[in-house]
Amino acid sequence: MSNDYVLQCSIDPRKGKLSVKGTITIPAPPKNALFILNRGLGWTKTIRRTAMGNIALDVYQTDEMEVPRLYNGNLWAFQIDEPDLDEIVIEIEYSGQIHPPVKESEMPTMGYIKQDFIELACYSAWYPVPANMETHLFFDVILKGPKDWTWKSNGILKKSENSSEWHWQQRSLVNDIIVVGLPERDAHIDPESLFWGPNGMIGSQKVLDTDVRRLRTLLEDWLGPRVTEEPIRFIITPRELGGAYTRAGLIVVGGGYPTDAKLRRQVLQAMSHEICHDWFCKASVRNYDNWVDEALAEYCSIIVTNDYLKDDFLDWRVKTTREKLEKQGHVPSIRSLTRDQDESYAAYYFRGFLLLNELSEKIGRNLFRDIIGEFARLSVKSDTVTSDMFLDFIEEKSGTKIHEVADLWLDFEGTGIP
Ligand SMILES: [Zn+2]
Repeated sequence: MSNDYVLQCSIDPRKGKLSVKGTITIPAPPKNALFILNRGLGWTKTIRRTAMGNIALDVYQTDEMEVPRLYNGNLWAFQIDEPDLDEIVIEIEYSGQIHPPVKESEMPTMGYIKQDFIELACYSAWYPVPANMETHLFFDVILKGPKDWTWKSNGILKKSENSSEWHWQQRSLVNDIIVVGLPERDAHIDPESLFWGPNGMIGSQKVLDTDVRRLRTLLEDWLGPRVTEEPIRFIITPRELGGAYTRAGLIVVGGGYPTDAKLRRQVLQAMSHEICHDWFCKASVRNYDNWVDEALAEYCSIIVTNDYLKDDFLDWRVKTTREKLEKQGHVPSIRSLTRDQDESYAAYYFRGFLLLNELSEKIGRNLFRDIIGEFARLSVKSDTVTSDMFLDFIEEKSGTKIHEVADLWLDFEGTGIP
């Protein structure tokens, strides 16, 4: 499933206001198309374009499914009610402010429009986010903001020289639309640097530039071409909570990375983890398949950091990950969790990484590495990746039966590892 968005946005950072008009094209639409929209935003127009002209479209708030915990917004149903359409085009207009998550939800504030910085992604549901988390999208975003602001998005910039409008287009399927911006006078703009964001925050990050470039090259040598030709950029935002997310070469990091020398190994690994999502970003976050993306990003980033520093990082991480996992006490099985559950972190990142390490020991480190390299090339070309597809691939390429071991690990619930 893939939707095509065309969004014309006006943003007023002083008033914290966003207004959007545009269209969403939905192929083979269901009876009800479900979208999530931030609770501070209100619809001002919803129309369906048809061959007979425009017709009003009934849009109502619903609780027919629970809004996945990753998203901060209300669930809306667009009533379509006509079976067998090839596609429909919906015209939408909405405006308002981005409200933070309600206190009881204990979710971090991932999206905001402030006077000195704007960060918008699916988490704040600043655009109608498909509630079915498997829908990918194409987009055109045309943005009007204050004249002296500078912006980044996970699309290709189409801006014309003299225009004050910013236009990005994304013709590869992606799973989100990101827009971040800040006043030009506060921005660190250096095409040679992998970092982008407020001057005051980037200064300390620049020492990492050379390391990260080399790590990226090592990853490309191993895993093949990335999912996008856009250069990797680390976007540092002033947000303190919520960590990092990656979309088509754009890595958005709240608060930046610590530059304390003692933490260097871990910082390099954390940055490599995000770069790895340029290959591993295709598993659904609606079910446990997502463990594959997270465990592979952990595994590959740890291996590549180990190679780069030529030390014992891998062995150290295997040991400390086991300890950290045990400290968590009872952790449900990987197979019983989805990404929006808190325990999934320990299950996917810790137990998932240890499972891959176990398979690597079983098959042989070098062969396992080669197979992961081949799998990365397949993942980049695939629409989706599943746990079964991944395990079948390893079994076939290695000629070693691994399903039994893998199933034991994936179904294991309790402390530590099976
Ligand atoms: Zn990750």
